[in-house]
Amino acid sequence: MRCPRIEVDLRKIRHNTQTIAKRLKRRGIRVTAVTKAVCGHPAIARAMRDGGAAGLAEARLSNVKRLRQAGVTCPITLIRTPMLSQVDDVVQACEASYNTELSVIAALAAAARRQNKVHGIILMAEMGDQREGIMPHDLGDVARGVVDMPGVALKGIGANFACLNGIAPTVSKMRALSALANDVEGQCGPFVETVSGGNSANLPWATGGNATGRVNDLRIGEAILLGVDPVTGDQIGGMYRDAFTLVAEVIETDAKSVDPLVGNFDHTLARIRLVPDISEITRIILAIGHQDTDAAGLLMPAGTTLIGATSDHLVIGTCDATLCVGSEMRFQMRYGALMRAMAASDIQINLRNDRPTTNAHNVHGPSKHLALV
Ligand SMILES: *Cc1c(COP(=O)(O)O)cnc(C)c1O
Repeated sequence: MRCPRIEVDLRKIRHNTQTIAKRLKRRGIRVTAVTKAVCGHPAIARAMRDGGAAGLAEARLSNVKRLRQAGVTCPITLIRTPMLSQVDDVVQACEASYNTELSVIAALAAAARRQNKVHGIILMAEMGDQREGIMPHDLGDVARGVVDMPGVALKGIGANFACLNGIAPTVSKMRALSALANDVEGQCGPFVETVSGGNSANLPWATGGNATGRVNDLRIGEAILLGVDPVTGDQIGGMYRDAFTLVAEVIETDAKSVDPLVGNFDHTLARIRLVPDISEITRIILAIGHQDTDAAGLLMPAGTTLIGATSDHLVIGTCDATLCVGSEMRFQMRYGALMRAMAASDIQINLRNDRPTTNAHNVHGPSKHLALV
């Protein structure tokens, strides 16, 4: 099989989505599955939908277009404030978008009127992460501006936590978000349907027995894909940590690591090189590098340490004496490594356990899904 590659177990993605969707449903919260870390990969998005995600969310319009071209028809929300230069395509491809700028909303409204559509607007409130968001005291005014604008409809409000500053949402912040939903309704009338409380970092809050108030939606990416809490890095109970595996090939194994004196022609030192190496660590080189992934975000198998990486090489120390040139090594990934590997043009993506076959799918055979790679 080709290397480097990522093996994606779609059954584990379905299971992880299902597990979170079930836990959140009991709390009155639906899951909007976020596909940005997998560049809007259609088969992974479909696995999330099959697992019970109510809709999909993407940060990049290019990924939304990839989903649409693959025939994904469910609601897709753009969760990064749209670029002014892309409003026409945003209205065409997305049911709704998260917004923080009235000038962008006005451009979206104009684009929607040209297309005879109504584009949904979710206003992002700044609740302490200090990335995107409207200051809470300005939210009512902006909401009224949206309500008065033909071509757009105020669908809801949202907040984001633990992205820029890594601080998990507190009970009081979440209570404040619910209060904001009530305030916006009080100020501008229409029912605020969606109150999107945040991302994977909100799961401990949402499943921890706190009152969920008005929050009825979470946007979940990392927890579905990697089965971990992004704030602590801990595995979430009942979830798979290994839906994705990065496989790379060994291109060199030797003992040069124990000889830091290569190129030094001092004969006294050269003799030192003849001392047998008693270390059991072998240094090996894999054909993968910074251009493909975040080397520091690879989880090293037991008995293995990361020595370093360059753009195209990964250098590793290992006790595994069976590894030789041509061997494959398998790695689990953290979020940053996954995100870059999924975007790397040189990495093949192999899907496992695609949808349980039905008659409808048998007609096309398994190669149908491989075509989406
Ligand atoms: C990336 C992102 C998410 C999803 O975050 P995860 O930690 O992957 O769950 C949710 N909302 C917004 C606005 C995002 O940018």
